[in-house]
Amino acid sequence: MDTQPADDLPRYGLYIDGRWSDAASGKLMSVNEPAHGRPMAHVASASAEDVHRAVRAARRAFDSGPWPHTPPAERARILHALADAIEERSAEFAEIESRNLGVPLRKSTFIDVPWSIEHLRVFAELARRQPYEPLPWTDVPSVSWNFVWREPIGVCGQIIPWNYPMLMAVWKIAPALATGNTIVLKPASYTPLTAIMLVEAIHESGLLPRGVVNLVTGPGGEVGEAIVRHPDVDKISFTGSTEVGRRIMELASATVKRTTLELGGKSPSLVMPDADLDLATDGVLFGMYLNGGQSCEAGTRCFVPESLHDEFLERLVARTRTLRIGDPLDLETDVGPLVSEKQRETVEQYIAIGRAEGATLATGGHRARVPGFERGPFVEPTIFTQVRNDMRLAQEEIFGPVLAVIPYRSVTEAIEQANVSNFGLGAAVWSRDIQAAIEVAKRIRSGTVWINDYHILLPHAPFGGYKQSGIGREHGVYGMMEYTETKHIHVDLMQRRDGRIWWDALLPPVE
Ligand code: NDP
Repeated sequence: MDTQPADDLPRYGLYIDGRWSDAASGKLMSVNEPAHGRPMAHVASASAEDVHRAVRAARRAFDSGPWPHTPPAERARILHALADAIEERSAEFAEIESRNLGVPLRKSTFIDVPWSIEHLRVFAELARRQPYEPLPWTDVPSVSWNFVWREPIGVCGQIIPWNYPMLMAVWKIAPALATGNTIVLKPASYTPLTAIMLVEAIHESGLLPRGVVNLVTGPGGEVGEAIVRHPDVDKISFTGSTEVGRRIMELASATVKRTTLELGGKSPSLVMPDADLDLATDGVLFGMYLNGGQSCEAGTRCFVPESLHDEFLERLVARTRTLRIGDPLDLETDVGPLVSEKQRETVEQYIAIGRAEGATLATGGHRARVPGFERGPFVEPTIFTQVRNDMRLAQEEIFGPVLAVIPYRSVTEAIEQANVSNFGLGAAVWSRDIQAAIEVAKRIRSGTVWINDYHILLPHAPFGGYKQSGIGREHGVYGMMEYTETKHIHVDLMQRRDGRIWWDALLPPVE
Protein backbone atom coordinates (compact mmCIF):
# COMPACT_ATOMS: atom_id res chain seq x y z
CA MET A 1 0.00 0.00 0.00
CA ASP A 2 1.47 3.29 -1.08
CA THR A 3 0.37 6.89 -0.90
CA GLN A 4 2.46 8.16 -3.80
CA PRO A 5 4.07 5.42 -5.92
CA ALA A 6 7.12 6.58 -7.89
CA ASP A 7 6.10 5.08 -11.24
CA ASP A 8 3.95 6.63 -13.96
CA LEU A 9 1.40 3.82 -14.22
CA PRO A 10 -2.28 4.80 -14.62
CA ARG A 11 -4.05 5.75 -11.38
CA TYR A 12 -7.75 5.50 -10.71
CA GLY A 13 -9.80 7.08 -7.97
CA LEU A 14 -13.15 6.30 -6.38
CA TYR A 15 -16.31 7.25 -8.24
CA ILE A 16 -18.74 8.83 -5.82
CA ASP A 17 -21.71 11.10 -6.53
CA GLY A 18 -20.75 11.56 -10.17
CA ARG A 19 -17.13 12.54 -9.51
CA TRP A 20 -13.75 10.83 -9.36
CA SER A 21 -11.88 11.42 -6.12
CA ASP A 22 -8.99 10.10 -4.04
CA ALA A 23 -9.59 7.91 -1.03
CA ALA A 24 -9.92 9.91 2.19
CA SER A 25 -6.64 8.38 3.37
CA GLY A 26 -4.92 9.23 0.07
CA LYS A 27 -3.79 5.60 -0.13
CA LEU A 28 -3.41 3.69 -3.37
CA MET A 29 -3.01 -0.03 -3.96
CA SER A 30 -1.30 -1.59 -6.93
CA VAL A 31 -3.03 -3.79 -9.46
CA ASN A 32 -0.94 -6.55 -11.03
CA GLU A 33 -0.57 -7.95 -14.49
CA PRO A 34 -0.22 -11.61 -13.51
CA ALA A 35 1.55 -12.83 -16.69
CA HIS A 36 4.47 -10.54 -15.86
CA GLY A 37 4.07 -10.51 -12.08
CA ARG A 38 4.33 -6.73 -11.98
CA PRO A 39 1.98 -3.78 -11.38
CA MET A 40 0.04 -2.30 -14.29
CA ALA A 41 -1.97 0.40 -12.46
CA HIS A 42 -2.81 1.82 -9.05
CA VAL A 43 -6.28 2.27 -7.61
CA ALA A 44 -7.55 4.16 -4.61
CA SER A 45 -7.68 2.10 -1.45
CA ALA A 46 -10.91 3.15 0.22
CA SER A 47 -11.90 2.90 3.87
CA ALA A 48 -15.19 2.87 5.75
CA GLU A 49 -15.24 6.69 5.52
CA ASP A 50 -15.26 6.55 1.71
CA VAL A 51 -17.91 3.83 1.75
CA HIS A 52 -20.07 6.07 3.88
CA ARG A 53 -19.72 8.87 1.32
CA ALA A 54 -20.65 6.49 -1.50
CA VAL A 55 -23.66 5.11 0.35
CA ARG A 56 -24.83 8.63 1.20
CA ALA A 57 -24.67 9.58 -2.49
CA ALA A 58 -26.54 6.43 -3.53
CA ARG A 59 -29.14 7.00 -0.79
CA ARG A 60 -29.74 10.57 -1.92
CA ALA A 61 -30.00 9.50 -5.55
CA PHE A 62 -32.56 6.92 -4.55
CA ASP A 63 -34.60 8.91 -2.02
CA SER A 64 -34.76 12.23 -3.82
CA GLY A 65 -33.34 11.68 -7.31
CA PRO A 66 -35.29 10.90 -10.48
CA TRP A 67 -33.81 7.46 -11.19
CA PRO A 68 -36.29 5.18 -9.34
CA HIS A 69 -39.14 6.98 -11.11
CA THR A 70 -37.56 7.17 -14.56
CA PRO A 71 -39.95 5.60 -17.08
CA PRO A 72 -38.99 2.05 -18.09
CA ALA A 73 -38.51 3.01 -21.74
CA GLU A 74 -36.01 5.68 -20.75
CA ARG A 75 -34.08 3.23 -18.55
CA ALA A 76 -34.02 0.85 -21.49
CA ARG A 77 -32.66 3.56 -23.78
CA ILE A 78 -29.88 4.37 -21.30
CA LEU A 79 -28.84 0.74 -20.89
CA HIS A 80 -28.70 0.31 -24.67
CA ALA A 81 -26.59 3.49 -24.93
CA LEU A 82 -24.17 2.05 -22.35
CA ALA A 83 -23.98 -1.18 -24.32
CA ASP A 84 -23.16 0.91 -27.43
CA ALA A 85 -20.45 2.81 -25.55
CA ILE A 86 -18.84 -0.44 -24.41
CA GLU A 87 -19.13 -1.97 -27.85
CA GLU A 88 -17.14 0.95 -29.27
CA ARG A 89 -14.34 0.19 -26.81
CA SER A 90 -14.60 -3.63 -27.08
CA ALA A 91 -10.98 -4.21 -28.05
CA GLU A 92 -9.71 -2.09 -25.17
CA PHE A 93 -11.96 -3.88 -22.66
CA ALA A 94 -10.76 -7.27 -23.92
CA GLU A 95 -7.11 -6.31 -23.71
CA ILE A 96 -7.32 -4.88 -20.20
CA GLU A 97 -9.35 -7.89 -19.01
CA SER A 98 -6.66 -10.21 -20.39
CA ARG A 99 -3.78 -8.26 -18.93
CA ASN A 100 -5.35 -7.82 -15.49
CA LEU A 101 -6.79 -11.34 -15.06
CA GLY A 102 -4.36 -13.29 -17.24
CA VAL A 103 -7.20 -14.79 -19.26
CA PRO A 104 -6.39 -15.46 -22.92
CA LEU A 105 -7.38 -12.67 -25.29
CA ARG A 106 -9.38 -15.16 -27.35
CA LYS A 107 -11.68 -15.68 -24.38
CA SER A 108 -12.02 -12.03 -23.38
CA THR A 109 -12.66 -11.10 -27.02
CA PHE A 110 -15.18 -13.82 -27.78
CA ILE A 111 -16.83 -14.37 -24.41
CA ASP A 112 -16.30 -11.76 -21.69
CA VAL A 113 -16.83 -8.59 -23.70
CA PRO A 114 -19.62 -9.69 -26.08
CA TRP A 115 -21.51 -11.50 -23.30
CA SER A 116 -21.29 -8.38 -21.15
CA ILE A 117 -22.76 -6.30 -23.97
CA GLU A 118 -25.46 -8.89 -24.59
CA HIS A 119 -26.42 -8.96 -20.90
CA LEU A 120 -26.74 -5.17 -20.89
CA ARG A 121 -29.00 -5.32 -23.94
CA VAL A 122 -31.19 -8.06 -22.51
CA PHE A 123 -31.65 -6.10 -19.29
CA ALA A 124 -32.42 -3.01 -21.37
CA GLU A 125 -35.27 -4.97 -22.96
CA LEU A 126 -36.45 -6.34 -19.60
CA ALA A 127 -36.41 -2.79 -18.20
CA ARG A 128 -39.26 -1.97 -20.58
CA ARG A 129 -41.62 -4.34 -18.81
CA GLN A 130 -44.22 -2.66 -16.67
CA PRO A 131 -43.56 -3.70 -13.06
CA TYR A 132 -47.23 -4.43 -12.68
CA GLU A 133 -49.24 -7.62 -12.39
CA PRO A 134 -53.04 -7.60 -11.95
CA LEU A 135 -54.47 -10.14 -9.53
CA PRO A 136 -57.35 -11.91 -11.24
CA TRP A 137 -59.55 -12.54 -8.22
CA THR A 138 -60.15 -11.32 -4.68
CA ASP A 139 -61.61 -12.79 -1.51
CA VAL A 140 -63.32 -9.67 -0.19
CA PRO A 141 -67.07 -9.41 -0.72
CA SER A 142 -66.83 -5.99 -2.30
CA VAL A 143 -65.67 -4.84 -5.65
CA SER A 144 -62.00 -4.03 -5.63
CA TRP A 145 -59.07 -3.90 -7.94
CA ASN A 146 -55.92 -5.64 -6.75
CA PHE A 147 -52.56 -5.56 -8.32
CA VAL A 148 -48.93 -6.25 -7.53
CA TRP A 149 -46.48 -3.45 -8.07
CA ARG A 150 -42.76 -4.09 -8.23
CA GLU A 151 -40.51 -1.36 -6.88
CA PRO A 152 -36.76 -0.95 -6.73
CA ILE A 153 -35.33 -2.05 -3.38
CA GLY A 154 -33.11 0.99 -2.85
CA VAL A 155 -29.35 1.17 -2.38
CA CYS A 156 -27.63 -2.01 -3.56
CA GLY A 157 -24.16 -2.96 -2.38
CA GLN A 158 -22.58 -5.11 -5.07
CA ILE A 159 -19.39 -7.03 -4.30
CA ILE A 160 -17.74 -8.92 -7.13
CA PRO A 161 -14.91 -11.45 -7.48
CA TRP A 162 -11.79 -11.45 -9.62
CA ASN A 163 -12.52 -14.35 -11.93
CA TYR A 164 -14.87 -12.66 -14.47
CA PRO A 165 -14.38 -8.99 -13.60
CA MET A 166 -16.24 -7.36 -16.47
CA LEU A 167 -19.06 -9.86 -16.78
CA MET A 168 -19.64 -9.84 -13.02
CA ALA A 169 -19.80 -6.04 -12.95
CA VAL A 170 -22.42 -6.10 -15.72
CA TRP A 171 -24.38 -8.92 -14.11
CA LYS A 172 -24.70 -6.76 -11.01
CA ILE A 173 -25.14 -3.29 -12.50
CA ALA A 174 -27.54 -4.10 -15.35
CA PRO A 175 -30.49 -5.64 -13.40
CA ALA A 176 -30.10 -3.12 -10.58
CA LEU A 177 -30.31 -0.19 -13.00
CA ALA A 178 -33.04 -1.79 -15.09
CA THR A 179 -35.26 -1.87 -12.01
CA GLY A 180 -34.41 1.65 -10.77
CA ASN A 181 -32.02 0.98 -7.90
CA THR A 182 -28.87 2.87 -7.01
CA ILE A 183 -25.52 1.18 -6.59
CA VAL A 184 -22.30 1.00 -4.62
CA LEU A 185 -20.05 -1.39 -6.53
CA LYS A 186 -16.90 -2.94 -5.08
CA PRO A 187 -14.69 -4.81 -7.55
CA ALA A 188 -12.14 -7.40 -6.45
CA SER A 189 -8.75 -5.97 -5.49
CA TYR A 190 -6.89 -8.18 -7.98
CA THR A 191 -9.00 -7.17 -10.99
CA PRO A 192 -10.76 -3.81 -10.66
CA LEU A 193 -9.79 -2.35 -14.04
CA THR A 194 -12.62 -3.30 -16.39
CA ALA A 195 -15.22 -2.41 -13.74
CA ILE A 196 -13.54 1.00 -13.53
CA MET A 197 -13.68 1.29 -17.34
CA LEU A 198 -17.35 0.42 -17.21
CA VAL A 199 -17.99 3.18 -14.70
CA GLU A 200 -15.89 5.54 -16.83
CA ALA A 201 -18.21 4.75 -19.75
CA ILE A 202 -21.21 5.51 -17.54
CA HIS A 203 -19.63 8.80 -16.43
CA GLU A 204 -18.69 9.87 -19.95
CA SER A 205 -22.15 9.07 -21.28
CA GLY A 206 -23.67 11.58 -18.85
CA LEU A 207 -26.86 9.52 -19.00
CA LEU A 208 -27.29 8.63 -15.34
CA PRO A 209 -28.09 11.10 -12.59
CA ARG A 210 -25.35 11.72 -10.02
CA GLY A 211 -25.06 9.13 -7.30
CA VAL A 212 -26.90 6.36 -9.15
CA VAL A 213 -23.69 4.38 -9.72
CA ASN A 214 -20.79 4.66 -7.27
CA LEU A 215 -17.59 2.63 -7.24
CA VAL A 216 -15.25 1.99 -4.34
CA THR A 217 -12.03 -0.02 -4.57
CA GLY A 218 -10.19 -1.39 -1.56
CA PRO A 219 -9.68 -4.45 0.61
CA GLY A 220 -12.73 -6.67 1.02
CA GLY A 221 -12.33 -7.09 4.78
CA GLU A 222 -12.64 -3.34 5.24
CA VAL A 223 -14.49 -1.90 2.25
CA GLY A 224 -16.72 -4.91 1.58
CA GLU A 225 -17.68 -5.26 5.22
CA ALA A 226 -18.36 -1.52 5.53
CA ILE A 227 -20.84 -1.81 2.65
CA VAL A 228 -22.54 -4.85 4.16
CA ARG A 229 -22.74 -3.29 7.61
CA HIS A 230 -24.01 0.08 6.43
CA PRO A 231 -27.56 0.69 7.68
CA ASP A 232 -28.49 2.70 4.57
CA VAL A 233 -27.73 -0.18 2.21
CA ASP A 234 -30.90 -2.13 1.46
CA LYS A 235 -29.55 -5.08 -0.50
CA ILE A 236 -26.30 -6.95 -0.97
CA SER A 237 -25.51 -8.88 -4.09
CA PHE A 238 -22.29 -10.85 -3.72
CA THR A 239 -20.34 -13.27 -5.88
CA GLY A 240 -17.30 -14.98 -4.40
CA SER A 241 -16.23 -17.64 -1.97
CA THR A 242 -18.66 -19.54 0.24
CA GLU A 243 -16.65 -18.50 3.27
CA VAL A 244 -17.10 -14.77 2.61
CA GLY A 245 -20.72 -15.45 1.61
CA ARG A 246 -21.36 -16.85 5.10
CA ARG A 247 -19.76 -13.80 6.67
CA ILE A 248 -21.94 -11.52 4.53
CA MET A 249 -25.11 -13.35 5.55
CA GLU A 250 -24.13 -12.95 9.16
CA LEU A 251 -23.40 -9.22 8.85
CA ALA A 252 -26.42 -8.52 6.65
CA SER A 253 -28.72 -10.06 9.24
CA ALA A 254 -28.14 -7.13 11.61
CA THR A 255 -30.26 -4.89 9.39
CA VAL A 256 -32.18 -7.68 7.63
CA LYS A 257 -30.78 -6.77 4.23
CA ARG A 258 -31.97 -8.60 1.17
CA THR A 259 -29.08 -10.74 -0.04
CA THR A 260 -28.27 -12.56 -3.23
CA LEU A 261 -25.24 -14.81 -2.95
CA GLU A 262 -23.54 -16.62 -5.79
CA LEU A 263 -20.86 -18.76 -4.20
CA GLY A 264 -18.59 -21.70 -4.80
CA GLY A 265 -19.02 -24.89 -6.74
CA LYS A 266 -17.65 -28.36 -7.34
CA SER A 267 -19.74 -29.18 -10.36
CA PRO A 268 -20.03 -32.70 -11.78
CA SER A 269 -19.70 -33.56 -15.45
CA LEU A 270 -21.39 -36.93 -16.01
CA VAL A 271 -20.27 -38.91 -19.04
CA MET A 272 -23.07 -41.40 -19.77
CA PRO A 273 -22.24 -44.85 -21.18
CA ASP A 274 -23.69 -43.84 -24.57
CA ALA A 275 -21.89 -40.48 -24.81
CA ASP A 276 -20.27 -39.30 -28.01
CA LEU A 277 -16.72 -39.52 -26.66
CA ASP A 278 -15.23 -36.96 -29.07
CA LEU A 279 -17.82 -34.41 -27.99
CA ALA A 280 -17.55 -35.34 -24.31
CA THR A 281 -13.74 -35.11 -24.33
CA ASP A 282 -13.70 -31.55 -25.61
CA GLY A 283 -16.78 -30.68 -23.58
CA VAL A 284 -15.31 -31.87 -20.30
CA LEU A 285 -12.10 -29.96 -21.00
CA PHE A 286 -14.00 -26.80 -21.98
CA GLY A 287 -16.08 -27.11 -18.79
CA MET A 288 -12.93 -27.55 -16.73
CA TYR A 289 -10.18 -25.35 -18.15
CA LEU A 290 -12.01 -22.28 -19.47
CA ASN A 291 -10.61 -19.34 -17.51
CA GLY A 292 -7.85 -21.63 -16.19
CA GLY A 293 -10.41 -23.47 -14.06
CA GLN A 294 -11.13 -20.26 -12.15
CA SER A 295 -14.89 -20.45 -12.67
CA CYS A 296 -17.41 -21.08 -9.94
CA GLU A 297 -19.43 -23.34 -12.26
CA ALA A 298 -16.39 -25.22 -13.68
CA GLY A 299 -16.95 -28.94 -14.22
CA THR A 300 -14.26 -30.10 -11.82
CA ARG A 301 -15.53 -33.64 -11.09
CA CYS A 302 -15.80 -35.88 -14.13
CA PHE A 303 -17.78 -39.10 -13.59
CA VAL A 304 -16.90 -41.77 -16.16
CA PRO A 305 -18.26 -45.33 -16.53
CA GLU A 306 -15.66 -47.87 -15.40
CA SER A 307 -16.00 -49.64 -18.75
CA LEU A 308 -14.99 -46.48 -20.65
CA HIS A 309 -12.53 -45.15 -18.12
CA ASP A 310 -9.22 -46.05 -19.74
CA GLU A 311 -10.24 -45.04 -23.24
CA PHE A 312 -11.80 -41.78 -22.11
CA LEU A 313 -8.88 -40.89 -19.87
CA GLU A 314 -6.47 -41.49 -22.72
CA ARG A 315 -8.48 -39.10 -24.89
CA LEU A 316 -8.67 -36.48 -22.13
CA VAL A 317 -4.95 -36.62 -21.44
CA ALA A 318 -3.98 -36.49 -25.12
CA ARG A 319 -6.25 -33.50 -25.77
CA THR A 320 -5.15 -31.70 -22.60
CA ARG A 321 -1.54 -31.95 -23.68
CA THR A 322 -2.39 -30.03 -26.86
CA LEU A 323 -3.47 -26.96 -24.87
CA ARG A 324 -1.03 -24.11 -25.40
CA ILE A 325 0.00 -22.34 -22.20
CA GLY A 326 1.37 -18.88 -22.71
CA ASP A 327 1.07 -15.13 -23.13
CA PRO A 328 -2.57 -14.16 -22.54
CA LEU A 329 -2.33 -11.51 -25.25
CA ASP A 330 -1.34 -14.07 -27.90
CA LEU A 331 -4.44 -15.20 -29.79
CA GLU A 332 -2.89 -18.68 -30.08
CA THR A 333 -2.85 -19.12 -26.28
CA ASP A 334 -5.42 -21.49 -24.77
CA VAL A 335 -4.46 -21.24 -21.09
CA GLY A 336 -2.96 -18.17 -19.40
CA PRO A 337 -1.52 -17.70 -15.93
CA LEU A 338 -3.64 -17.88 -12.79
CA VAL A 339 -4.73 -14.59 -11.30
CA SER A 340 -2.03 -14.47 -8.62
CA GLU A 341 0.87 -16.22 -6.97
CA LYS A 342 -1.43 -16.83 -3.99
CA GLN A 343 -3.90 -18.66 -6.20
CA ARG A 344 -1.08 -20.77 -7.64
CA GLU A 345 -0.03 -21.70 -4.09
CA THR A 346 -3.62 -22.79 -3.35
CA VAL A 347 -3.72 -24.91 -6.50
CA GLU A 348 -0.34 -26.47 -5.73
CA GLN A 349 -1.50 -27.32 -2.22
CA TYR A 350 -4.47 -29.18 -3.69
CA ILE A 351 -2.22 -31.04 -6.14
CA ALA A 352 -0.16 -32.16 -3.14
CA ILE A 353 -3.36 -33.11 -1.27
CA GLY A 354 -4.53 -35.16 -4.27
CA ARG A 355 -1.26 -37.10 -4.34
CA ALA A 356 -1.35 -37.63 -0.58
CA GLU A 357 -4.94 -38.89 -0.75
CA GLY A 358 -3.86 -41.57 -3.21
CA ALA A 359 -5.35 -40.20 -6.45
CA THR A 360 -3.33 -40.94 -9.59
CA LEU A 361 -1.83 -38.01 -11.46
CA ALA A 362 -2.58 -38.62 -15.14
CA THR A 363 -1.12 -35.41 -16.55
CA GLY A 364 0.14 -32.00 -15.43
CA GLY A 365 0.67 -31.30 -11.76
CA HIS A 366 3.54 -28.85 -12.18
CA ARG A 367 4.28 -25.22 -12.80
CA ALA A 368 4.45 -24.41 -16.48
CA ARG A 369 7.52 -22.53 -17.68
CA VAL A 370 6.69 -19.91 -20.30
CA PRO A 371 9.74 -18.19 -21.86
CA GLY A 372 9.58 -14.44 -21.32
CA PHE A 373 6.99 -14.84 -18.54
CA GLU A 374 9.13 -16.34 -15.81
CA ARG A 375 7.26 -14.45 -13.07
CA GLY A 376 3.78 -15.50 -14.21
CA PRO A 377 1.83 -17.97 -12.00
CA PHE A 378 1.30 -20.63 -14.68
CA VAL A 379 0.17 -24.15 -13.77
CA GLU A 380 -0.13 -27.06 -16.19
CA PRO A 381 -3.66 -28.28 -16.83
CA THR A 382 -3.83 -31.21 -14.46
CA ILE A 383 -5.88 -34.41 -14.35
CA PHE A 384 -6.14 -36.80 -11.43
CA THR A 385 -7.84 -40.13 -11.87
CA GLN A 386 -8.97 -42.90 -9.53
CA VAL A 387 -10.38 -40.09 -7.39
CA ARG A 388 -12.96 -41.05 -4.79
CA ASN A 389 -15.79 -38.60 -4.35
CA ASP A 390 -15.11 -38.32 -0.62
CA MET A 391 -11.55 -37.06 -1.15
CA ARG A 392 -10.84 -33.38 -0.49
CA LEU A 393 -9.79 -33.17 -4.13
CA ALA A 394 -13.40 -33.95 -5.08
CA GLN A 395 -15.14 -31.99 -2.34
CA GLU A 396 -13.33 -28.65 -2.01
CA GLU A 397 -13.27 -25.77 -4.47
CA ILE A 398 -9.74 -25.48 -5.89
CA PHE A 399 -10.30 -22.70 -8.42
CA GLY A 400 -7.55 -23.75 -10.76
CA PRO A 401 -6.89 -26.20 -13.61
CA VAL A 402 -7.31 -29.46 -11.68
CA LEU A 403 -9.77 -32.08 -12.91
CA ALA A 404 -10.81 -35.06 -10.78
CA VAL A 405 -11.88 -38.13 -12.78
CA ILE A 406 -14.11 -40.48 -10.80
CA PRO A 407 -15.00 -43.92 -12.23
CA TYR A 408 -18.57 -45.21 -11.65
CA ARG A 409 -20.33 -48.56 -12.03
CA SER A 410 -23.95 -47.52 -12.62
CA VAL A 411 -25.73 -44.34 -13.65
CA THR A 412 -27.64 -44.39 -10.36
CA GLU A 413 -24.35 -44.45 -8.47
CA ALA A 414 -22.99 -41.60 -10.60
CA ILE A 415 -26.03 -39.43 -9.85
CA GLU A 416 -25.88 -40.21 -6.13
CA GLN A 417 -22.18 -39.40 -5.96
CA ALA A 418 -22.61 -36.25 -8.06
CA ASN A 419 -25.10 -35.06 -5.45
CA VAL A 420 -22.76 -35.79 -2.54
CA SER A 421 -21.36 -32.28 -2.34
CA ASN A 422 -21.96 -29.17 -0.27
CA PHE A 423 -22.29 -27.31 -3.54
CA GLY A 424 -24.92 -27.30 -6.27
CA LEU A 425 -24.14 -24.70 -8.92
CA GLY A 426 -23.61 -26.36 -12.31
CA ALA A 427 -23.51 -29.81 -13.85
CA ALA A 428 -23.26 -31.44 -17.27
CA VAL A 429 -24.61 -34.65 -18.73
CA TRP A 430 -22.94 -36.06 -21.84
CA SER A 431 -25.22 -38.46 -23.70
CA ARG A 432 -26.67 -39.24 -27.13
CA ASP A 433 -30.05 -40.04 -25.56
CA ILE A 434 -31.55 -36.63 -24.82
CA GLN A 435 -34.60 -37.97 -23.04
CA ALA A 436 -32.48 -40.10 -20.70
CA ALA A 437 -30.12 -37.14 -20.17
CA ILE A 438 -33.06 -34.93 -19.15
CA GLU A 439 -34.09 -37.55 -16.58
CA VAL A 440 -30.55 -37.47 -15.17
CA ALA A 441 -30.57 -33.65 -15.22
CA LYS A 442 -33.78 -33.62 -13.17
CA ARG A 443 -32.10 -35.69 -10.47
CA ILE A 444 -29.00 -33.51 -10.15
CA ARG A 445 -29.22 -31.03 -7.28
CA SER A 446 -27.85 -27.92 -8.93
CA GLY A 447 -29.07 -24.63 -10.35
CA THR A 448 -27.99 -25.27 -13.94
CA VAL A 449 -27.55 -28.52 -15.86
CA TRP A 450 -26.11 -28.47 -19.35
CA ILE A 451 -26.76 -31.41 -21.64
CA ASN A 452 -23.93 -31.84 -24.15
CA ASP A 453 -22.54 -28.37 -23.47
CA TYR A 454 -20.97 -26.29 -20.70
CA HIS A 455 -20.67 -22.69 -19.40
CA ILE A 456 -23.66 -21.44 -21.41
CA LEU A 457 -25.10 -18.79 -19.11
CA LEU A 458 -27.89 -17.21 -21.11
CA PRO A 459 -28.91 -13.69 -20.10
CA HIS A 460 -32.54 -14.86 -19.95
CA ALA A 461 -31.93 -18.07 -18.00
CA PRO A 462 -31.75 -18.08 -14.19
CA PHE A 463 -28.30 -18.75 -12.73
CA GLY A 464 -27.56 -19.56 -9.11
CA GLY A 465 -26.92 -22.31 -6.66
CA TYR A 466 -28.53 -25.02 -4.59
CA LYS A 467 -27.10 -25.75 -1.13
CA GLN A 468 -23.95 -23.80 -0.22
CA SER A 469 -23.55 -22.50 -3.75
CA GLY A 470 -25.75 -19.58 -2.94
CA ILE A 471 -29.09 -17.92 -2.47
CA GLY A 472 -31.22 -16.35 -5.17
CA ARG A 473 -30.85 -16.23 -8.92
CA GLU A 474 -29.25 -13.87 -11.40
CA HIS A 475 -30.27 -13.15 -15.01
CA GLY A 476 -33.52 -12.64 -16.82
CA VAL A 477 -36.80 -12.05 -15.07
CA TYR A 478 -35.59 -14.11 -12.08
CA GLY A 479 -32.60 -11.82 -11.66
CA MET A 480 -34.77 -8.70 -12.04
CA MET A 481 -37.10 -9.88 -9.29
CA GLU A 482 -34.14 -10.08 -6.89
CA TYR A 483 -33.79 -6.30 -7.27
CA THR A 484 -37.41 -5.46 -6.52
CA GLU A 485 -39.72 -5.27 -3.56
CA THR A 486 -43.21 -6.66 -4.02
CA LYS A 487 -46.16 -4.47 -3.10
CA HIS A 488 -49.82 -5.39 -3.16
CA ILE A 489 -52.09 -2.41 -3.90
CA HIS A 490 -55.78 -2.84 -3.08
CA VAL A 491 -58.20 -0.31 -4.55
CA ASP A 492 -61.76 -0.31 -3.20
CA LEU A 493 -64.05 0.47 -6.12
CA MET A 494 -67.38 0.75 -4.27
CA GLN A 495 -66.48 3.78 -2.19
CA ARG A 496 -69.45 3.11 0.12
CA ARG A 497 -69.67 2.26 3.81
CA ASP A 498 -72.35 -0.43 3.57
CA GLY A 499 -71.47 -3.98 2.65
CA ARG A 500 -68.14 -3.87 4.45
CA ILE A 501 -68.98 -6.52 6.99
CA TRP A 502 -65.36 -6.87 8.05
CA TRP A 503 -65.48 -3.29 9.39
CA ASP A 504 -68.24 -4.48 11.72
CA ALA A 505 -65.55 -6.36 13.62
CA LEU A 506 -64.66 -3.02 15.16
CA LEU A 507 -67.33 -0.48 14.35
CA PRO A 508 -71.03 -0.60 15.18
CA PRO A 509 -73.06 -1.28 11.99
CA VAL A 510 -74.36 1.80 10.23
CA GLU A 511 -78.19 2.08 10.49
P1 NDP B 1 -13.49 -13.70 -1.87
O1 NDP B 1 -14.78 -14.35 -1.66
O2 NDP B 1 -12.62 -13.41 -0.70
O3 NDP B 1 -13.67 -12.30 -2.64
C1 NDP B 1 -14.78 -11.93 -3.41
C2 NDP B 1 -15.10 -10.47 -3.21
O4 NDP B 1 -15.47 -10.23 -1.85
C3 NDP B 1 -13.92 -9.52 -3.45
O5 NDP B 1 -14.39 -8.29 -3.96
C4 NDP B 1 -13.36 -9.34 -2.06
O6 NDP B 1 -12.57 -8.18 -1.90
C5 NDP B 1 -14.63 -9.25 -1.24
N1 NDP B 1 -14.47 -9.58 0.18
C6 NDP B 1 -13.48 -10.30 0.77
N2 NDP B 1 -13.71 -10.40 2.09
C7 NDP B 1 -14.87 -9.74 2.35
C8 NDP B 1 -15.64 -9.51 3.52
N3 NDP B 1 -15.25 -9.97 4.70
N4 NDP B 1 -16.78 -8.80 3.42
C9 NDP B 1 -17.20 -8.34 2.22
N5 NDP B 1 -16.50 -8.53 1.07
C10 NDP B 1 -15.36 -9.23 1.12
O7 NDP B 1 -12.66 -14.54 -2.90
P2 NDP B 1 -11.07 -14.55 -3.06
O8 NDP B 1 -10.76 -13.56 -4.08
O9 NDP B 1 -10.33 -14.38 -1.79
O10 NDP B 1 -10.85 -16.02 -3.54
C11 NDP B 1 -10.73 -17.06 -2.58
C12 NDP B 1 -11.39 -18.30 -3.07
O11 NDP B 1 -12.77 -18.07 -3.24
C13 NDP B 1 -10.92 -18.77 -4.42
O12 NDP B 1 -9.78 -19.55 -4.34
C14 NDP B 1 -12.11 -19.55 -4.89
O13 NDP B 1 -12.07 -20.84 -4.35
C15 NDP B 1 -13.28 -18.80 -4.31
N6 NDP B 1 -13.90 -17.86 -5.27
C16 NDP B 1 -15.09 -18.19 -5.78
C17 NDP B 1 -15.69 -17.37 -6.71
C18 NDP B 1 -17.00 -17.71 -7.31
O14 NDP B 1 -17.36 -17.13 -8.33
N7 NDP B 1 -17.74 -18.62 -6.73
C19 NDP B 1 -15.04 -16.15 -7.19
C20 NDP B 1 -13.81 -15.86 -6.54
C21 NDP B 1 -13.27 -16.71 -5.63
P3 NDP B 1 -10.99 -8.24 -2.14
O15 NDP B 1 -10.80 -8.63 -3.55
O16 NDP B 1 -10.56 -6.86 -1.85
O17 NDP B 1 -10.46 -9.26 -1.19
